Amino acid sequence: MKKESAWKTYTQEELQELEALNKRYRDFLDAGKTERECVKEIIKQAEARGYNSIEEIENSGKKLVPGDKVYTVMMKKAVTLFNIGEKPLKEGMNILGAHIDSPRLDVKQNPLYEEGGFAYLDTHYYGGIKKYQWVAIPLSIHGVAVKKDGTVFEICIGEKEDDPVFFISDLLVHLSQKQLEKKGSVVVEGEDLNLTVGNIPLTGTEKDAVKANTLKLLEEYYGLQEEDFISAELEIVPAGKAKECGLDKSMIMAYGQDDRVCAYTSLEAMLNTDSVEKTAVCILVDKEEIGSVGATGMRSRFFENSVARIMNCMDSYSEFDLRMTLQNSKMLSSDVSSAYDPIYSSSYDKNNVAYLSKGMVFNKFTGSRGKSGSNDANAEYLAQLRNIMDENKVKFQTAELGKVDLGGGGTIAYILALYGMDVIDCGVAVLNMHAPWEVTSKADIYEVKKGYEAFLKNA
Ligand code: MN
Ligand code: MN
Repeated sequence: MKKESAWKTYTQEELQELEALNKRYRDFLDAGKTERECVKEIIKQAEARGYNSIEEIENSGKKLVPGDKVYTVMMKKAVTLFNIGEKPLKEGMNILGAHIDSPRLDVKQNPLYEEGGFAYLDTHYYGGIKKYQWVAIPLSIHGVAVKKDGTVFEICIGEKEDDPVFFISDLLVHLSQKQLEKKGSVVVEGEDLNLTVGNIPLTGTEKDAVKANTLKLLEEYYGLQEEDFISAELEIVPAGKAKECGLDKSMIMAYGQDDRVCAYTSLEAMLNTDSVEKTAVCILVDKEEIGSVGATGMRSRFFENSVARIMNCMDSYSEFDLRMTLQNSKMLSSDVSSAYDPIYSSSYDKNNVAYLSKGMVFNKFTGSRGKSGSNDANAEYLAQLRNIMDENKVKFQTAELGKVDLGGGGTIAYILALYGMDVIDCGVAVLNMHAPWEVTSKADIYEVKKGYEAFLKNA
């Protein structure tokens, strides 16, 4: 049962493939720091590989046939790719699913204010974060502001070499005696996550002159007025590019690897897959970090409707066939797993935790306490997957998040399982999960990509 480091096993040629994949992955992370940016990049890559939008197919009146490649998009934040297989749809599809939203700070709808000579944007955090990790680091602003007439302004400040960055201040250590006695969860409080955006007062203005100057700049750069924040989605994320990590460059350190590491590897596996027996599907969704809610989260009917549209374009839609298609499908619900951290070893069960660089991680179940909230994958399904991974020489390990009763987490797995399909959680091990900078192993990224390809072709 002992697994060895994947690094010990690679040939020169495999190492070259591994490095090339990881370079493409870093580029993807830099291009997509929000769900909207990810969807844009995913569509760009998919179209370059022969995918068409479902609207294009519907409008042309063409019928979908095996070999056709189609994508559907929901509100620019979730996307599904389909590669139509030879077999009838109702025999089931092979589905890869991952999420493209990540923990961050969202700008409030009435955010801009001035205090003590600074202009601030007030935020509300999104997803599970340790708030104290988000102060005193360079941050960038990504997102959109939509004018009343529907014009969408795309905003991205803090990523280019010459761009300014932003920050949330922290109290100097010299005055922190009282602060440091507080519980970790309140050392930095949610309402104090206010982004510093300026310090120069507008000349000739008496009251709130720094705020006025900020508004003047927003007007100049983007044509935006203060009221436009009402219909804006601005996300505050760590500024800077994804980096190689370690003297041996064995790891990737970057923001948002939960779950873009699984999203990108799923996407690449999907785009590399040509003709398939069973229809191959890749779902990349939003809102996982806040419970898969909303129209763009996995609990939305978006995916089910997408399958209905695909069937409709094959002249084979019926409620019964749709249900059988979903029930007969198999899915890898791909999300990150916690990697064993020797510095915090007491939080893990050493025999049932994922180790960095030991390959693709399968979590038979997730959840909290007594597996609450989990999708508990079927043993028969796990057996089939073991076989596929072994036959395709994919290194894998099995794991739980951590020790029993220490906490827990959920994924999108249970939602697809509602259709009666086989679903299992799997993915990449991550250190510093949900921190501004998360760490993964290049070897694991290489193994999961291989694993996803093997699944699409053989499940
Ligand atoms: Mn995740
Ligand atoms: Mn997460």
